Amino acid sequence: MLDGRRGGIGKGRYQVTKEQFAEMLNGREYGSEITRDESRQAKEEGFVVVFGASDDLVEFRGAIDYEDGCYDGGVVYLSKGGPFIHECGDNDCPHAAREREKCAKLKAVWCGGYSDASWTYETNIPHATFNIYEYGERYCVGIVFELAALGEERSGEDGQEKINHRRNG
Ligand SMILES: [Zn+2]
Repeated sequence: MLDGRRGGIGKGRYQVTKEQFAEMLNGREYGSEITRDESRQAKEEGFVVVFGASDDLVEFRGAIDYEDGCYDGGVVYLSKGGPFIHECGDNDCPHAAREREKCAKLKAVWCGGYSDASWTYETNIPHATFNIYEYGERYCVGIVFELAALGEERSGEDGQEKINHRRNG
Protein backbone atom coordinates (compact mmCIF):
# COMPACT_ATOMS: atom_id res chain seq x y z
CA MET A 1 0.00 0.00 0.00
CA LEU A 2 2.70 2.48 0.95
CA ASP A 3 4.95 1.74 -1.99
CA GLY A 4 7.87 3.47 -0.33
CA ARG A 5 6.01 6.66 0.37
CA ARG A 6 6.31 8.09 3.83
CA GLY A 7 3.38 8.81 6.04
CA GLY A 8 0.88 6.45 4.47
CA ILE A 9 -1.93 7.14 2.09
CA GLY A 10 -3.88 10.34 2.06
CA LYS A 11 -1.13 12.48 3.51
CA GLY A 12 -0.12 14.81 0.79
CA ARG A 13 2.39 14.18 -1.94
CA TYR A 14 -0.38 14.25 -4.49
CA GLN A 15 0.88 14.00 -8.00
CA VAL A 16 -2.54 15.00 -9.24
CA THR A 17 -5.52 16.68 -7.62
CA LYS A 18 -8.86 14.96 -7.16
CA GLU A 19 -10.23 17.34 -9.78
CA GLN A 20 -7.62 16.20 -12.29
CA PHE A 21 -8.30 12.59 -11.46
CA ALA A 22 -12.03 13.11 -11.96
CA GLU A 23 -11.38 14.86 -15.26
CA MET A 24 -9.39 11.83 -16.43
CA LEU A 25 -12.41 9.59 -15.79
CA ASN A 26 -14.93 12.03 -17.21
CA GLY A 27 -16.83 10.89 -20.30
CA ARG A 28 -16.16 7.19 -20.01
CA GLU A 29 -18.61 4.42 -20.71
CA TYR A 30 -20.51 2.37 -18.18
CA GLY A 31 -18.45 -0.75 -17.43
CA SER A 32 -15.16 0.98 -18.32
CA GLU A 33 -15.13 3.56 -15.55
CA ILE A 34 -11.61 2.95 -14.26
CA THR A 35 -8.78 0.56 -15.08
CA ARG A 36 -6.94 -1.61 -12.59
CA ASP A 37 -3.84 0.59 -12.94
CA GLU A 38 -5.88 3.73 -12.33
CA SER A 39 -7.46 2.16 -9.25
CA ARG A 40 -3.96 1.47 -7.98
CA GLN A 41 -2.92 5.04 -8.71
CA ALA A 42 -5.99 6.35 -6.88
CA LYS A 43 -5.08 4.23 -3.88
CA GLU A 44 -1.51 5.56 -3.89
CA GLU A 45 -2.76 9.13 -4.09
CA GLY A 46 -5.26 8.53 -1.30
CA PHE A 47 -8.30 9.07 -3.54
CA VAL A 48 -11.60 7.28 -3.32
CA VAL A 49 -13.54 6.92 -6.58
CA VAL A 50 -17.30 6.28 -6.35
CA PHE A 51 -19.68 5.33 -9.15
CA GLY A 52 -22.84 3.30 -9.67
CA ALA A 53 -23.52 -0.02 -11.32
CA SER A 54 -26.75 -1.73 -12.31
CA ASP A 55 -29.76 -0.33 -10.44
CA ASP A 56 -28.64 -1.37 -7.01
CA LEU A 57 -24.87 -1.03 -6.53
CA VAL A 58 -22.44 1.63 -5.39
CA GLU A 59 -18.82 0.93 -6.28
CA PHE A 60 -15.73 2.22 -4.48
CA ARG A 61 -12.25 2.06 -5.99
CA GLY A 62 -8.86 3.33 -4.90
CA ALA A 63 -8.16 3.99 -1.23
CA ILE A 64 -11.44 2.22 -0.44
CA ASP A 65 -12.21 -0.91 -2.44
CA TYR A 66 -15.79 -1.84 -1.71
CA GLU A 67 -19.19 -2.55 -3.19
CA ASP A 68 -22.47 -2.00 -1.45
CA GLY A 69 -26.08 -2.67 -2.29
CA CYS A 70 -28.31 0.40 -2.47
CA TYR A 71 -31.42 -0.58 -4.39
CA ASP A 72 -33.47 2.55 -5.07
CA GLY A 73 -30.74 4.58 -3.34
CA GLY A 74 -29.22 4.41 0.09
CA VAL A 75 -26.65 5.80 2.51
CA VAL A 76 -23.13 4.49 3.04
CA TYR A 77 -21.38 5.53 6.25
CA LEU A 78 -17.65 6.04 5.94
CA SER A 79 -14.75 6.49 8.32
CA LYS A 80 -11.06 6.70 7.57
CA GLY A 81 -10.91 2.94 7.93
CA GLY A 82 -13.45 2.53 5.14
CA PRO A 83 -17.13 1.68 5.21
CA PHE A 84 -18.63 1.64 8.68
CA ILE A 85 -19.48 -1.85 9.83
CA HIS A 86 -20.81 -2.12 13.36
CA GLU A 87 -18.98 -4.67 15.49
CA CYS A 88 -21.96 -6.99 15.80
CA GLY A 89 -22.32 -6.93 12.03
CA ASP A 90 -25.75 -5.27 12.00
CA ASN A 91 -25.58 -1.58 11.08
CA ASP A 92 -29.21 -1.17 12.17
CA CYS A 93 -28.44 -2.37 15.68
CA PRO A 94 -29.38 0.39 18.22
CA HIS A 95 -25.80 0.45 19.43
CA ALA A 96 -24.61 1.31 15.94
CA ALA A 97 -26.52 4.61 15.76
CA ARG A 98 -24.11 6.69 17.83
CA GLU A 99 -21.04 5.34 16.06
CA ARG A 100 -22.71 5.93 12.73
CA GLU A 101 -23.23 9.58 13.59
CA LYS A 102 -19.47 10.05 13.69
CA CYS A 103 -19.11 8.82 10.14
CA ALA A 104 -19.24 10.77 6.92
CA LYS A 105 -22.38 10.07 4.94
CA LEU A 106 -22.55 9.33 1.26
CA LYS A 107 -26.06 9.19 -0.13
CA ALA A 108 -26.53 7.28 -3.36
CA VAL A 109 -29.49 8.73 -5.24
CA TRP A 110 -31.33 6.72 -7.87
CA CYS A 111 -32.90 8.89 -10.56
CA GLY A 112 -32.70 12.07 -8.50
CA GLY A 113 -34.78 15.05 -9.56
CA TYR A 114 -31.95 17.45 -10.33
CA SER A 115 -30.11 15.28 -12.80
CA ASP A 116 -30.79 13.23 -15.89
CA ALA A 117 -28.33 10.62 -14.62
CA SER A 118 -29.52 7.36 -13.05
CA TRP A 119 -27.00 7.59 -10.23
CA THR A 120 -25.87 10.70 -8.41
CA TYR A 121 -24.34 11.17 -4.96
CA GLU A 122 -24.97 13.63 -2.17
CA THR A 123 -22.33 14.13 0.48
CA ASN A 124 -20.63 16.76 2.59
CA ILE A 125 -17.27 15.22 1.78
CA PRO A 126 -15.41 17.66 -0.52
CA HIS A 127 -15.33 16.01 -3.93
CA ALA A 128 -14.91 16.39 -7.67
CA THR A 129 -17.36 14.86 -10.14
CA PHE A 130 -17.17 12.98 -13.42
CA ASN A 131 -19.78 11.78 -15.89
CA ILE A 132 -20.24 8.19 -17.02
CA TYR A 133 -22.31 7.48 -20.12
CA GLU A 134 -24.31 4.56 -21.39
CA TYR A 135 -25.40 4.50 -25.03
CA GLY A 136 -24.70 8.22 -25.26
CA GLU A 137 -26.79 9.15 -22.27
CA ARG A 138 -25.49 10.16 -18.91
CA TYR A 139 -25.77 7.22 -16.56
CA CYS A 140 -23.89 8.37 -13.49
CA VAL A 141 -22.27 11.41 -11.92
CA GLY A 142 -19.43 9.77 -10.05
CA ILE A 143 -17.27 11.44 -7.44
CA VAL A 144 -13.63 11.50 -6.34
CA PHE A 145 -12.67 12.49 -2.81
CA GLU A 146 -9.63 12.29 -0.58
CA LEU A 147 -9.55 9.56 2.03
CA ALA A 148 -7.98 12.14 4.34
CA ALA A 149 -11.25 14.11 4.21
CA LEU A 150 -13.04 11.41 6.17
CA GLY A 151 -13.29 11.57 9.94
CA GLU A 152 -11.05 9.74 12.31
CA GLU A 153 -12.15 6.36 13.44
CA ARG A 154 -13.04 6.49 17.12
CA SER A 155 -12.76 4.06 19.95
CA GLY A 156 -15.98 2.43 21.08
CA GLU A 157 -17.92 3.64 24.13
CA ASP A 158 -16.61 0.77 26.19
CA GLY A 159 -13.07 1.78 25.43
CA GLN A 160 -12.49 -1.16 23.19
CA GLU A 161 -10.04 -0.42 20.47
CA LYS A 162 -11.82 -0.53 17.17
CA ILE A 163 -10.44 -2.70 14.48
CA ASN A 164 -8.11 -0.89 12.14
CA HIS A 165 -9.47 -1.79 8.75
CA ARG A 166 -6.42 -0.55 6.96
CA ARG A 167 -5.41 -3.27 4.60
CA ASN A 168 -1.91 -4.21 3.71
CA GLY A 169 -0.71 -4.82 0.22
ZN1 LIG B 1 -24.68 -4.24 17.75
